[in-house]
This record gives sequence, C-alpha cells and structure tokens, in this order.
Amino acid sequence: MPSVATVIRLGVSQCLLGDSVRYDGKHKYCASLQENLNGEFVLEGFCPEVAAGMGVPRPPIQLVYFHSGIEVCDVANTGKKRTRQLTDYARCEMQRRIATLSGFIFKKGSPSCGPEGVAVFNPQGHVLHRQGVGVFAAMIQQQFPQLPVIDEKGFENPMRREQYLHAVRAYFQTQST
Ligand code: SF4
Repeated sequence: MPSVATVIRLGVSQCLLGDSVRYDGKHKYCASLQENLNGEFVLEGFCPEVAAGMGVPRPPIQLVYFHSGIEVCDVANTGKKRTRQLTDYARCEMQRRIATLSGFIFKKGSPSCGPEGVAVFNPQGHVLHRQGVGVFAAMIQQQFPQLPVIDEKGFENPMRREQYLHAVRAYFQTQST
C-alpha cells in the first residue's frame, strides 16, 4: 500500500461508481475505473443532484436556454428551475472537498456533471445545440481551470486515459510542492 502522501485523490461522478443515485434510481457503473485505477488513486464520489437535496428518484432535468442565460430545469416543466439549488451546493464543496482533488472523472452528457458536449434545449424542448456544460462541472472548471478532467467515455479510451493520468500526476506534484 502506498503511504498517505503518495495517494492521489480523484473526484468521480458517483453513478459511475455503481451507486444508484440517478434520477431513475439506477447507476451507470463504469468498470474501466476499477480496472485501470490501482492503489495509487483514491476515488471520491460526488452526486451533486442528490447532495443538493433533489432525492432519488427525482424528475429528470436538462439544460435550457433562456434569453437571460442557461438554466437547469425539470424536463417536464421548464418553469421548475434547479440552477440555484445546484450552484449553492457546488459553491459549498469547492474549498471543502474539490480543492483537495487532483482530477475529476465526470459522467458524459449530464446537465449537472457533463464536462462538455451537453445538450441545450429551448423552452419548448427542442435541442438547440450540444455544446453545453453541466452546472457542477462548469463551476469546478471555472474555479480550478488547471484541474485535469475527463468523462467516462474519454477514460475508456486507452490513449486519452494515459494522457489524462499523466496530467493528474503532474497536477498532484504541483499540489505537493
Ligand atoms: S451524472 Fe452526476 S448528478 Fe447525475 S446521477 Fe451521476 S453523479 Fe448524480
């Protein structure tokens, strides 16, 4: 076992760890995480929607473009905005937990966790584009722009995974000095 000083802590969207935290009570277990991360790394799960008090099960949400900006809303009711709930939670976590991480592995496509390429809808429910960023992921990337991040699909790609882990180790070194 490595000593505590050499363990690298990675944040992970909690549904990827096999925890049943998704809106429908299911998970999105990603076997590649367990297969490719050895004792050098400790994984710390985050589910912003559950932690923000939205419960399991809960109404599915999506990113919606309004003239005033992009909001997170219930799919079935774009009048029900969840943005404040999620950003309040994320703000609390930044210095307390996120600041101690050396990388984050996000769930692709999520309106909370997706680090890129998330669908953005108009208030009528039609896709406007797929260049959005999940609210939680966006706040982390704004607060810690050097933090290495990837989604699970990127992590499953051997070349991208190696590049990512190399960046994580380098980031960890900067935190340790
Ligand atoms: S994608 Fe993020 S918010 Fe959605 S279930 Fe997974 S951890 Fe929770």
